[in-house]
Amino acid sequence: MTRRIFIAGNWKMNLTLSASLELAEGLKKAAAGISNADIAVCPPAVYVQAVAAVLKGTAVGVGAQNVYFEKEGAFTGEISANMLKDIGCRYVILGHSERRNILGESSEQVNLKVKAALAAGLVPIVCVGELLKEREAGTTEDVVRRQFDGSFSGIAAKEMENCVIAYEPVWAIGTGKVATPEQAEEVHAAIRKMIEKNYSKEVAEKVRIQYGGSVNDKNAAEILAKPNVDGALVGGASLKVEPFLGILKSA
Ligand code: PEP
Repeated sequence: MTRRIFIAGNWKMNLTLSASLELAEGLKKAAAGISNADIAVCPPAVYVQAVAAVLKGTAVGVGAQNVYFEKEGAFTGEISANMLKDIGCRYVILGHSERRNILGESSEQVNLKVKAALAAGLVPIVCVGELLKEREAGTTEDVVRRQFDGSFSGIAAKEMENCVIAYEPVWAIGTGKVATPEQAEEVHAAIRKMIEKNYSKEVAEKVRIQYGGSVNDKNAAEILAKPNVDGALVGGASLKVEPFLGILKSA
């Protein structure tokens, strides 16, 4: 089974409106010749609509970095999945470690968001990954399994096939300390086994698992060459056209 490579950029809380549009224009030009991978960018929510307008009709999809799980109503400051869909989103990053660890988001909340995203027709990119102390304690797989089971609880097989998982060891995010291709492959293979156990081999073969954590144009090729690594979720290196494009070329 060949899974199509999927490279997504997480712009986090960076850039201005004009810088976002400039980056989107650059990607629009650069991505015109790329057909071997799915590509997406996830700008800050306030810039999603403008970036989606620039990228409309191109190979570059647009996603958000979070969503609220309720459909509508008195939830001051929140944004629903239908609203994201309405302004041109195709993807939404859920359970990023910065949301889990800085904002206290639990896997139960992530689960509600996964359900809301799927109901609205968005593709959830669900992040899982261990802290450095958890890796050092040898509990990486247990941590990832808990996050996986919690985040996908009650998700049907057909819905699971539409989800993307991003394995992002927290110690590798924004640190320049990328996991070795072997470390990434080990956890990716374990995640695929978790999907097989909870669903089936067929579903496990379909779900794409991205690696995230200090991926750049220099280290991407080696990681993406691993059989269970189906793409990358990229933070810092997605903020400029050249390095992001370099990652795409490695794919
Ligand atoms: C991320 O934010 O998901 C990420 C992987 O960041 P970076 O590439 O900067 O480590």
